[in-house]
Amino acid sequence: MSESKNDLMDKLVSLCKRRGFIFQSSEIYGGINGFWDYGPLGVELKRNIKAAWWEDVVRRRDDIVGLDASIIMNPRVWEASGHVGGFSDPMVDCTECKARFRADRAFTVLAAAGETEIVSGGAEAETEAVAREVVAAGASSKIRRRIEQKADEITWTIFRSDQTPEGKTAMCPTCRGSLTPPRLFNLMFETHVGAMQDSTSVAYLRPETAQGIFADYKNVLDSSRLKVPFGIAQIGKAFRNEINPRNYTFRSREFEQMEIEFFCHPSEADTWYEHWRDARFQWYIDHGLTSSKLRLRDHEKDELAHYAAACADVEYEFPFGLSELEGIANRTDYDLSRHQEYSGKDLTYFDDETKERFIPYVIEPSGGVDRATLAFLCEAYTEDEAPDDKGQMKTRVVMKLHPRFAPIKVAVFPLVKKEGMPEVARGIYEQVRDAGLAAFYDEKGAVGRRYRRQDEAGTPFCVTVDGQTLEDQTVTIRDRDTLDQTRIKADEVLTFVREKLG
Ligand code: ATP
Repeated sequence: MSESKNDLMDKLVSLCKRRGFIFQSSEIYGGINGFWDYGPLGVELKRNIKAAWWEDVVRRRDDIVGLDASIIMNPRVWEASGHVGGFSDPMVDCTECKARFRADRAFTVLAAAGETEIVSGGAEAETEAVAREVVAAGASSKIRRRIEQKADEITWTIFRSDQTPEGKTAMCPTCRGSLTPPRLFNLMFETHVGAMQDSTSVAYLRPETAQGIFADYKNVLDSSRLKVPFGIAQIGKAFRNEINPRNYTFRSREFEQMEIEFFCHPSEADTWYEHWRDARFQWYIDHGLTSSKLRLRDHEKDELAHYAAACADVEYEFPFGLSELEGIANRTDYDLSRHQEYSGKDLTYFDDETKERFIPYVIEPSGGVDRATLAFLCEAYTEDEAPDDKGQMKTRVVMKLHPRFAPIKVAVFPLVKKEGMPEVARGIYEQVRDAGLAAFYDEKGAVGRRYRRQDEAGTPFCVTVDGQTLEDQTVTIRDRDTLDQTRIKADEVLTFVREKLG
């Protein structure tokens, strides 16, 4: 990872903690790996992202309805879905340092021919850094390119462990110890339901929200007037005992998904797949992820799961590498057929008009709320120059979040805490707040400092009540991104902000 990218991640993590976006879970006890908390600003940001998604895919469409299924379900669900038998990753362990890596993701560091000086100097640390970067980077073509660049400097070569060339010894990326052969490790968290803790009471925390939708598909169909094609959307927690939680919230053990299962006639599946793939990609662009950092990657045929007819990933260039935000897949009739087989219930659909009975195909856009949140945070982080209280240009950190996502939409300040300014400012604040816009009132400290705090929170507008307000009832309204300060009538603040927020 280049230093500036590392830097950006460090700065973002520190801002997120300092300003209350994201905290380590149970930090006062030393934390717990793979679990994160969203603080006062973070929870608003995340809720806004989920609300925008819900608004766009459920409320503004008449062919999709919502669902909130339970996290713990009948364990047969996970047998039917294949998770009990198959939701496992091949893992390799280092026999020396005991580190564990995903064999299909972890990359094995191998000594390249004739490179004996590797042990000396900073080579080891560098190797580890490169190995970590490679692991984070994911796609093999990219990895090879990076390796070639790096190889001159550090005399190491890194290969994917499943592409180990003949005659090279696989080594642990961390300590260069030897690795065990790959073993399967199930990612589902187990628990017990009821008082008995035996094999008959085993249940699982759902590793994805999708199966709740399939299990309720018939209920939704029977209780609504929906006809195929239609979709069911759900946002909720999912749990995976990831071997290697890393990259901040990107790979966590507890996370949230926002998923749609869109049911259609098999003959229309290709068209609906393309619709959702393109619509979901566009959604991220529309909310501020620049298209140069966003990529839509169609899976190669040999990458597809056995039941999938097509799949694409929306990927974002995070500071730690290009990584998946959302997957869109044509899952055919696999899931409903499996649930029909395991439950013994008829899950076919009867079309009144054509008199045809069939199992619908499913198009699944499956996104991660935490990954989307992290991508929007990374994209928003900006450093520029702005005048301080003394009019001197200083570096400013500003979170240029999409206004729809910004935790606070308007902050209102009295310039000073006297001459009746606080009363006027509070009045404006209460008007904005009571109209349903997230507002914030702040009268403490120099006004420049208050602006900076709101810049870090990503607040699009700051309203300041000053001496002139008391004379002509106008206020200044400052734009977070352009820094333009406009004078408008105090009683027009709400209309102005509403118009700008769209
Ligand atoms: P990966 O290959 O990165 O493990 P995946 O392909 O297994 O992801 P899916 O099973 O397709 O992921 O899950 C759908 C979405 O759920 C992902 O696109 C991602 O946004 C989110 N997601 C999956 N696993 C995690 C995790 N451990 N932490 C945070 N989000 C996750």
